[in-house]
Amino acid sequence: MHFEDVRQWQGTADDLARELKRQIEQLGLSVEPPSVRTVRLWRSKQLLSQPKGQEFKFRQILEGLATAVLLKRGWTLAAIGQVLPSFSDTDLERQIIAESDGQDSTWATVIQTNSLPLPVGHRHALDLAEDAAMLLAQGIIRQYNRVLPGQEIVRQDDSMPPELYRAMCKLGRLYIEEGLADSAACVHTILERSRYPLSSEEWNLKIFRQTEFPFSGVTLIEPDLRVPTSDCSVIANKSGAFGEDNVIEHRLYSQLREATERLGARRKHKAYTAVRKLVGKYSLIGERQLLDYLIENDLTPLQRTVVDFFDRVSDTWLIEGFVHRCTHCGTLMRPHPNKNRFPDGCCPIRQCYSHNSGQLCEKLNPDGLLIAKPQILTFWTGPAIDELAIFEAAQQKGLNAELYPESDLCDISINNRAIGIDAKSYTSPVTLALRLNRRIGGLAHYRRRIIAISDRLIEENPNYLSSLRSTLDKKGDPATLEVLSVTSVIELIKSM
Ligand SMILES: [Zn+2]
Repeated sequence: MHFEDVRQWQGTADDLARELKRQIEQLGLSVEPPSVRTVRLWRSKQLLSQPKGQEFKFRQILEGLATAVLLKRGWTLAAIGQVLPSFSDTDLERQIIAESDGQDSTWATVIQTNSLPLPVGHRHALDLAEDAAMLLAQGIIRQYNRVLPGQEIVRQDDSMPPELYRAMCKLGRLYIEEGLADSAACVHTILERSRYPLSSEEWNLKIFRQTEFPFSGVTLIEPDLRVPTSDCSVIANKSGAFGEDNVIEHRLYSQLREATERLGARRKHKAYTAVRKLVGKYSLIGERQLLDYLIENDLTPLQRTVVDFFDRVSDTWLIEGFVHRCTHCGTLMRPHPNKNRFPDGCCPIRQCYSHNSGQLCEKLNPDGLLIAKPQILTFWTGPAIDELAIFEAAQQKGLNAELYPESDLCDISINNRAIGIDAKSYTSPVTLALRLNRRIGGLAHYRRRIIAISDRLIEENPNYLSSLRSTLDKKGDPATLEVLSVTSVIELIKSM
């Protein structure tokens, strides 16, 4: 048996480099043994998982060997760092021995047989802390704008900005999770505390002092002048819009961008598109089907990030013990309070044709089913209905079309930079126009720039297109936009 003599092994970086060389020779692996410097680099990139200040152990021998093998297969360090933690020691041993026997050990199958690592622990607390800080910053700005005219005072009641209220709930949870009393229940205390840096004793939250927490040294309110700091407004505006859903969507989006970034230049755009397509088409998905999709699309290094986009289907969504899937968009139908009119529930996606009609559905066994988080459904799955319809029409026509090209430069591009199309489903044409007057975004990189408006919105408001066109600036980038309904865009594509 391999590895029997090193299960109790311990040593320094020098020792580990020496041991890895010995193991690579013994196992006959055709990889370069790492130098001490490389071992230190791997440690700094957290590929070697021993806690800071402790000696390396047996696990790090396995991690070192796996890293050397995967690097040879063209994985990036970042991608390796993402998957290594999902392997048990036994899995790693088995894979390394298979490599040494010259078997074609597909690392993906090991990931396949493991269960999905549902988000728990450290990452979860950091996400919670980041959301709490962003909501707190937004709540402070909103509260400040309210009391500024001098007519209102801070009150802990229904008039409190919802961002502030949600921030306090999340802060309360952080205190409880750190084993402390919930000292976030009073709005006055929280505002008082905001005059101190988040990492300070006054806050007394360990998670705020971690190096991974991005707002650690930040003070949200000027200590003496008692106005929101400029840091506060930067953090508040980071997600582009206020409110809890926007904050969470922004975080998930940044996590996806960071994770794909780590795959390296060659793979990142493809991976980004594949993930967006996944949540667009398969927002309700079985665990196994999700793993297969990740493997087929070369996304296993992103497994953790992607799994975080989903929750288990909770019992409250079941209708007579079954999960109902919308036949139109494929998502989970929710039970409707009016059981006579909607006995099968209704589709929660606003852009879906079945949204108001409680249409046909498919009944599934709930075991192992996952549903995309509400923010993903709102910001990605819903808009994807139109985006995918346009993209698929272009594909059927045999055009050179790309979905979310270059990590989201636009929704659909045709013939590289010739045509860029963005599908939009803002309920108000005026809000959309004002947004576009500020920035038309990645569309600026395309020669022909098309805004496609959801047909459902035009059904509801027949003046939608004319209001949008008349509110768009008559000069500059906004004047170059063509505004069409999704159906017209599809007709245009068919006539190309
Ligand atoms: Zn639907």
